[in-house]
Amino acid sequence: MGGITMRLGSHYLALSTIAWGLAVPLVFANTHALGSHTGIDGIPAIHLGPWVLDESRSIFILIWLLVLLGAWFAYNLLGSRVGRTVRALRGGGILMASFGADAFRVRLMLFVLASAYAAVAGWLFAHANRFVSHTPFSLHASIDYVFMMVAAGMSQLSSALIGSTLYIGLNNVLQDVLPLVTSRGAQVNSLIFALLFLLILERMPGGIGRPIVRLVERFRPARKIEPVSSAATKLPSRTMPQKGTCILKADKVSKRFGGLVAVNEVSFDINAGEILGLIGPNGAGKSTMFNLLTGTLPLSGGAVSFLNTPLQGKTQREIALLGVARTFQHVKLRPRMTVLDNVALGAHARGKCGLFRGGLQLDRDEEASIMAEAMYQLTRVGLAEHAYDMAGSLPLGTQRLVEIARALAADPVLIMLDEPAAGLRLLEKQALATLLENLRAEGVTVLIVEHDMEFVMNLVDRLVVMNFGSKIAEGRPEEVRADPQVQAAYLGSDA
Ligand code: ADP
Ligand code: MG
Repeated sequence: MGGITMRLGSHYLALSTIAWGLAVPLVFANTHALGSHTGIDGIPAIHLGPWVLDESRSIFILIWLLVLLGAWFAYNLLGSRVGRTVRALRGGGILMASFGADAFRVRLMLFVLASAYAAVAGWLFAHANRFVSHTPFSLHASIDYVFMMVAAGMSQLSSALIGSTLYIGLNNVLQDVLPLVTSRGAQVNSLIFALLFLLILERMPGGIGRPIVRLVERFRPARKIEPVSSAATKLPSRTMPQKGTCILKADKVSKRFGGLVAVNEVSFDINAGEILGLIGPNGAGKSTMFNLLTGTLPLSGGAVSFLNTPLQGKTQREIALLGVARTFQHVKLRPRMTVLDNVALGAHARGKCGLFRGGLQLDRDEEASIMAEAMYQLTRVGLAEHAYDMAGSLPLGTQRLVEIARALAADPVLIMLDEPAAGLRLLEKQALATLLENLRAEGVTVLIVEHDMEFVMNLVDRLVVMNFGSKIAEGRPEEVRADPQVQAAYLGSDA
């Protein structure tokens, strides 16, 4: 079911889950072996070795043990390598692919895990009641679960406990009280929940659980910034190509949007260890070129190869895994994750621990290595003291640096930046330029796409200039500046 459903987005996903919610109980109601309309009775009590859990007190203990176990697993998972990708899912598929994660697979994994939890709950339900039919699994039940989650808040794990306690508690009270005052208890009950739902959505979009969690956060001691731990083993890293060798080759690359040729047979090389600037006036085709090189858009013509591997037909994610890291023109950090967690996402593809090792805490060594790597990259961009701040609380210029740290955490051969200086103030621009110069000194290769010519002039080794989709000049900054075609292109534009 997940394989079909999880490919859908937004409201299609919600609608299709409603369709499943209607269809599956119908199948049960019409299948004799599954109890048809009357259900299955005479289900035996659970036997655990010498214990027979045939009364509510004994199965109560088992239920709570399993609840705690499930919560412990989910809590560990969210803090692990896989859990970080779960928390980043909302950032979208392009962000996920940029550090080598597959959004569909993460969603599918969550779907299967949630199904496993539901299966355990169903098993307990059937054996506790000794009877099961399709009736309690109607669409109404799904709505109840949505209510529990939304009412308590979707952004924290504790909501599962807070929401279900509130819902079931209130429901029980109403079922006791309402019959005393009205003969239409069931209808009034539904009405009360509907009004409550509206009120919560309107007044507390973060859910009832949010203030509780805030309060707990306020009294939690601030985490101390630890220096990079030297005890953690280093993550595997790539062998970098020799300085000066050609790592990326764009050969007559073209992109057409209908009748518009946004990129017209542009060719250039990127050599290891250099900073190459791709500049041009607005609308020249730079972002389109950037998207072609990272696999975000398919080529209309020409070819790109990276480290002698043709990128033809490769997905964004596969290109990222080859060692191309990128940042985004419109910063894509997860605002409610810490800066350190955001950077650790970059190192995703360098780790191996999956769902089970994460959930059972068998990933501690690798996690220590990933965190040490993230801390090292944060130190490299000068932001170590912000490690435990929420990424969304930083100013834009600082967020750009965090994105660069995230890109560096992937141990990339080439790092590509799309208009990193846009929207930055002068001091932030200078900090960015200094950082890029330091990275070059350490052997990192950078492609910087920029509209502001002055920003790149003193920074880059070579420039490629585009205008109206074509390459009009290439060379060292002073040569390019003297080029009459470049002057003409920039004259009258606002750069
Ligand atoms: P730059 O980044 O150099 O400012 P772009 O690469 O964004 O330029 O755009 C180059 C040209 O391609 C522009 O004329 C733009 O309108 C057009 N363009 C870009 N993306 C699309 C698209 N998805 N569909 C149609 N036209 C596009
Ligand atoms: Mg652009």
